[in-house]
Amino acid sequence: LPVLAVVGRPNVGKSTLVNRILGRREAVVEDIPGVTRDRVSYDAEWNGRAFTLVDTGGWDPDARGMAERIRVQAEIAVSLADAVLFVVDAAIGITDADEAVVRVLRKSGKPVVLAANKVDDERAEAEAFALWNLGLGEPHVVSALHGRGSGDLLDAVLEVLPEAPEQEREIGGPRRIAIVGRPNVGKSSLLNKLAGEERVVVDNVAGTTVDPVDELVELGGQTWRFIDTAGIRKRVKEASGHEYYAWLRTSTAIERAEVCVIVLAGNESIAEQDMRILQEVREAGKALVIAFNKWDLVDAERRYYLDREIERDLVQVQWAPRINITARTGWHIDRLVPALDRAIEGWETRISTGALNAFLGRIVAEHPHPVRGGKQPRILFGSQVSSAPPVFKLFTTGRLDQGYERFIERRLREEFGFVGTPIEIKVQPRE
Ligand code: GDP
Repeated sequence: LPVLAVVGRPNVGKSTLVNRILGRREAVVEDIPGVTRDRVSYDAEWNGRAFTLVDTGGWDPDARGMAERIRVQAEIAVSLADAVLFVVDAAIGITDADEAVVRVLRKSGKPVVLAANKVDDERAEAEAFALWNLGLGEPHVVSALHGRGSGDLLDAVLEVLPEAPEQEREIGGPRRIAIVGRPNVGKSSLLNKLAGEERVVVDNVAGTTVDPVDELVELGGQTWRFIDTAGIRKRVKEASGHEYYAWLRTSTAIERAEVCVIVLAGNESIAEQDMRILQEVREAGKALVIAFNKWDLVDAERRYYLDREIERDLVQVQWAPRINITARTGWHIDRLVPALDRAIEGWETRISTGALNAFLGRIVAEHPHPVRGGKQPRILFGSQVSSAPPVFKLFTTGRLDQGYERFIERRLREEFGFVGTPIEIKVQPRE
């Protein structure tokens, strides 16, 4: 959903206004300096359009200088939001802190709607006109307390707020799945067993090849689109001969897929090339399932070494569901769909800003960042900026140690699942 951030000094009536917009009186309380609220984002709707309202009110747990606090709020809001609702107190007029915000907002180029609150009488309304001087366009006069003007204000907001971003996947369309792996691990055996007679060939990359590239296959009551099955079945001779061509094909398939199944030969050591493919899946941000094939050839001794290889070579993809199969006979291939479902669920998981910040508060209290050169970077605020794959943005007072980022990732996984998906954490330190 598009994000609208509400910015303004404490006491300008932000919370009352937010409550008006949400049409309910619960949840949002006035700012208390030094107190962080755990809920900062809300689903809102106006005239049938849904958006996410982010209230920047209670972010900075430090009661530092007011001007500084509000400037930080504005910076965070701007980098997070699609549009900003800037609330000023018309009865008081513009303060230095407001001026600082205006500079940040202007520089960002994000659409801004200016709300002049506490316009409770005619005198205040006259004062509000002075706000044209801010250069942010028309000041929309409201009285959050009396509910006056908030409808017009919301109309103005919807005019500048972009529509929800287009979904990449056609809703309800088949999931795109790529079976990847080095030659001879059993990819085509697996595909053949899975597809059986039910395959439907679709030639969707027009003009690039005469080979059918994808197939629609029904598994576990859903239709899946298997990407580049021609490559899997080596109908194209080059695939086995030219390594570069094969690689290009693999990485294109990964790029087009939502979820990848990497097939590894359980009876052989994990190879350099396997790890290269895994890295590609991780970097492309796709959901992942690991299938150890040729399990019929895995004896107790091999099993022993395999467990060690998994610990050593697959640490980066520990989160991926693993299944052991024998493609040739079909043994355990019915475990593939549940594993795919779990991976896709993790990949698409979205956690609310409120829950994320409550979680961050808890883990920081339990395990603060180590002090570096007399300084201890703090996390001011976090937000999951996208899903499929999950990407998190953390606003901090300084760079975080690699080890600390890994700690956050590990705790995120423990807390929220994220099975089968890479996670990206972007840290945005304030200069
Ligand atoms: P691809 O190159 O990854 O598509 O691999 P193929 O599916 O062509 O399989 C390569 C070879 O491994 C063939 O001889 C298959 O019969 C054999 N193979 C595939 N799966 C299994 C399995 O589960 N067990 C055993 N023993 N052999 C298998």
